[in-house]
Formats: sequence, structure tokens, C-alpha cells
Amino acid sequence: MKIGILSRNAKLYSTRRLVEAAEQRGHQVRVIDSLRCYMNITTRHPEIHYKGEVLDGFDAVIPRIGASVTFYGTAVLRQFEMMGVYPLNESVAITRSRDKLRSLQLLAKHGIGLPVTSFAHSPDDIDDLLNIVGGAPAVIKVLQGTQGLGVVLAETKQAAESVIQAFMGLKEHILVQEFIKEAGGSDIRCFVVGGKVIASMKRQGKEGEFRSNLHRGGSAALVRISPEERATALRAAKIMGLNVCGVDILRSNHGPVVMEVNSSPGLEGIEAASGKDIAGQIIEFIEKNAKPYNTATKGKG
Ligand code: ADP
Repeated sequence: MKIGILSRNAKLYSTRRLVEAAEQRGHQVRVIDSLRCYMNITTRHPEIHYKGEVLDGFDAVIPRIGASVTFYGTAVLRQFEMMGVYPLNESVAITRSRDKLRSLQLLAKHGIGLPVTSFAHSPDDIDDLLNIVGGAPAVIKVLQGTQGLGVVLAETKQAAESVIQAFMGLKEHILVQEFIKEAGGSDIRCFVVGGKVIASMKRQGKEGEFRSNLHRGGSAALVRISPEERATALRAAKIMGLNVCGVDILRSNHGPVVMEVNSSPGLEGIEAASGKDIAGQIIEFIEKNAKPYNTATKGKG
């Protein structure tokens, strides 16, 4: 097969591992920087140009689209889909998962456990906004944040009010959540490939830190997940329409709650924690599923 990897940086661990795994299985691989692609919008003859040549003959494309290039990256991916190239994750599903509010609303609609959440832009009654989640302590997030930046734990009502006012001043969309204290600064990353949780790890924030992000100094270890956690992760992936994703779950005293579904989950932490060849399993999934126009939207999205 000829496989394209949409990634801005061929040196990243996840990109390198996917290239390696595909080559080991005898495939031809090319890393493509989505921002350098340019495209025609022509009836029935979609094309992608790259550095003066036309990209042609790809059987599958693996999107590794960073949060900051979602708009253009998903447009390039959509163009591949229109050309009939099989996407590991579809452009519509990636767009859906990148919008935190839309994802939470979708997951809520399908009955997935979530932290009690309220959201706002310019609330006139901050008290009421806080009351929705049971008051302080509360976690306050800006919608566009990644890697734990823009996520604040407000321990008191006064602190919560000031943080909300500060975010309002920045004209940010604000998400307020009940603080899941019993998670103890840890979360569970379930790595889903093709309707199976193939590995899971527990990420623990460093001492005194409630955020478990590895980018914030957290550490990862192998964990056994419960049948309920497994079912929750698989349902969340299905609702988002993602073949490959990382479902982040907090262990709350009202059961597993989903915090986020990540459409480009990193491979480094999970391969190290599990000792598994995750990249290889992703390529195997592509081998089984890559057929022309094999998407839920059939290129119409
Ligand atoms: P990002 O998408 O920027 O990583 P998250 O919403 O995933 O932001 O939050 C970062 C980390 O903060 C999570 O991995 C989790 O450990 C912690 N966290 C987030 N929301 C809550 C919450 N409601 N209760 C407890 N901990 C939380």
C-alpha cells in the first residue's frame, strides 16, 4: 500500500513510529506537511499539489493534525477523502472532536458519564454559573487550551469568580466543571483502535498538581481498566466516529467520566507504558480497512 502521514514534523516520535511500522510491513510511506499542500476545488477532479507535484496513488492517509492547524489540516484530509483515499480518522470526526463543547454535548446526548459541566461566554450571573456545578472547588477551562494550559483549579468561590472574570475579560469561551477530587490528580488514557481498547495507562500529575498531563510533568504507568471503563471508552470513540483515539477518563465516585476524546493521541507514552507495538496495530487496522471511499460520509462531509 501507499500510505500518507499528514504530519508537520517527520521527527516526532509518533510520526517516526508510524513510518517505521508501515515500512516494516512492506508499505510505501510518505510524510506530508498539510500546510504545504495546495488544492484545486474542481467538479469531480479533486487534486492535491505538493511542492510542485500532484499527490497521487495513495491508498490511505493517517492524519496527525495538530490542534493549531485543525482548520487547514482537515481541509486537506477532506480533499484526500474526495479523491477516495481511506482516512484512518475521518475529517468530520476530527473536526467534531476538536470542538470541546460540541463533543461534550454529543457525549451527553448519548448518556456518557461526564463531569458536571457548565459553559459560558459572558455570563451576567457568575454565582448561578458556579452553582450549576455545585460551587467551589471547581475547574475552569478556556475552550481552546491544550496540554493542560488554560485549566485552572479554583479552590474557593472568590478564586473561581476572579478566574471567570479574567477569562471573560479575554473574551474567551469558558467551561466550568465539578472538580473530581477523588481522581487524585490522575486520569486514565484508553487507547482505542478499531473498536477495541488496545492499551491503557494511568497518568499521574506531579506532586501537588491536579493536572495529569505528561507535558506538565506527569508520569504514566500501565493500568487495568474495569469493564465499565472499557465500555465507556469504546462508546465515546464510536459516538465521535473515530477509529483511532485516546479517551481520557477520570475515576469519579459516580463512575467513569469522560474528559476528552483525542483524535491524534501520542504514541510515546502509551508504547512506553504498555510495551506494545501500538504503531504496528494501527497499520494492521489500515491494512484491513483501507478501501476506496470507505468513510461514513462517503466524501460528502
Ligand atoms: P487539556 O485538553 O488541555 O489537556 P484537560 O481538560 O484534559 O485539558 O485537563 C487537563 C488535566 O487536568 C486532566 O488531564 C486532568 O488530570 C485534570 N482535570 C481536568 N478537568 C478536571 C476535573 N473536572 N476534575 C479533576 N481533574 C481535572
